[in-house]
Amino acid sequence: MNAPLTDTPAELPPTTVVVGHPLIQHKLTLMRRSRTPANEFRLLLREISMLLAYEVTRDMPTELIEIETPLTTMQAPVLAGKKLCLVSVLRAGGGILEGMLEILPAARVGHVGLYRDPVSLQAVEYYLKLPRDISERTAIVLDPMLATGNSAAAAVSEVKAAGCQSIKFVCLIAAPEGLKTLHDAHPDVTVYTAAVDSHLNDHGYIVPGIGDAGDRIFGTK
Ligand code: URA
Repeated sequence: MNAPLTDTPAELPPTTVVVGHPLIQHKLTLMRRSRTPANEFRLLLREISMLLAYEVTRDMPTELIEIETPLTTMQAPVLAGKKLCLVSVLRAGGGILEGMLEILPAARVGHVGLYRDPVSLQAVEYYLKLPRDISERTAIVLDPMLATGNSAAAAVSEVKAAGCQSIKFVCLIAAPEGLKTLHDAHPDVTVYTAAVDSHLNDHGYIVPGIGDAGDRIFGTK
């Protein structure tokens, strides 16, 4: 079975990019297994994040500069335009951040601390630290699970409140409900995800999903 490398299924918001690369899909299957231990889980997430970094930066503009090779001079492309800021949604966003920084070592990093009220499932903010110049950068907001979409929408709102006008969102697994909530709140934000799963259960967990991403990354359960 060959999945398309990137796809936007018709029933999902048009700002959804599902990255169907076989390497990502294989690694995600290993992550989903409940018997995969935390050390392997972290490594797989780091590897998938590097591959997602490749996709989310695909449209970065380049410009030609003149360089000298050992043989001659030439016009060669380098990155141009806005620089990047990676914004990790605590705590599970840290799992994606590590892999992204491998590929994008010059990016600045911000953090948004949000927890989900277990009853209302609404996002409650407890920490915010963003680079001062974020308004001049493209922000890539990171959270492995786009579940209800409430935390994602709140994190993007904070980044916008800091003046940033160019924002993308990267996750590992999205639920259709979360994609809709984020799109309704922020239709200008493109979401890059490795998979779109079936639905949310009554506790706001993605099914079939991977369970609690933070617990699986940090081995806290
Ligand atoms: N957060 C998680 O860690 N897992 C889910 O399935 C949903 C939200």
